[in-house]
Amino acid sequence: MARYTDSVCKLCRRERQKLFLKGQKCFTDKCPIEQRNYPPGQHGVSRRAKISEYGVQLREKQKIKRMYGLLETQFRNYFEKAIKQKGKTGENLVKLLERRLDNVVYRIGFASSRKQARQLIKHRHFLVNNQLVDIPSYLLNPGDIIQVKEKSKKLDAIHNSLKRVKDNTYNWITVDKATLSGTFVQVPERADIPLNANEQLVVELYSK
Ligand code: SF4
Repeated sequence: MARYTDSVCKLCRRERQKLFLKGQKCFTDKCPIEQRNYPPGQHGVSRRAKISEYGVQLREKQKIKRMYGLLETQFRNYFEKAIKQKGKTGENLVKLLERRLDNVVYRIGFASSRKQARQLIKHRHFLVNNQLVDIPSYLLNPGDIIQVKEKSKKLDAIHNSLKRVKDNTYNWITVDKATLSGTFVQVPERADIPLNANEQLVVELYSK
């Protein structure tokens, strides 16, 4: 499947916002956004053209899609699912994205980025409710328990990542660092999801 292979930091600079795509580096002053927060390219600093309504909506969609590491078709499929659910489509969309296993592995702190979470999942390091799951897009349900597989409990990547995790960061996830397990307690409310984006603009974009 096609994947974005250029420097992911350029994606943050394009959106003028941290998208947290690079793991530990994102939390240090080596993050390029800390140093030069303007779009990449030779005209990045001077680009002042007024952005159209469509452009604003498009940028917001790109930002959310990139944060969760999805391709256009995948993202669109989540949107189509969100439309069919009761409630606000934009909120449904974000809640669906938050239920992905790679996102929850990242939120728990077993990985320092969603990209790393995807790699770890594909390499078969996690169990969900005692069953091996190697599908990053696997959608979790309330009460699901995510565990690091016994044979994988010494992995440096997981322990290094857990060091940055504070207890009780999210009220919809519990983490047990001693047993390397966590519970997806409930689907989070939008207000509890740390996503600096306006998903309503995505709804407006796709409704054109
Ligand atoms: Fe790079 Fe992370 Fe900073 Fe984004 S937030 S620019 S991915 S270091």
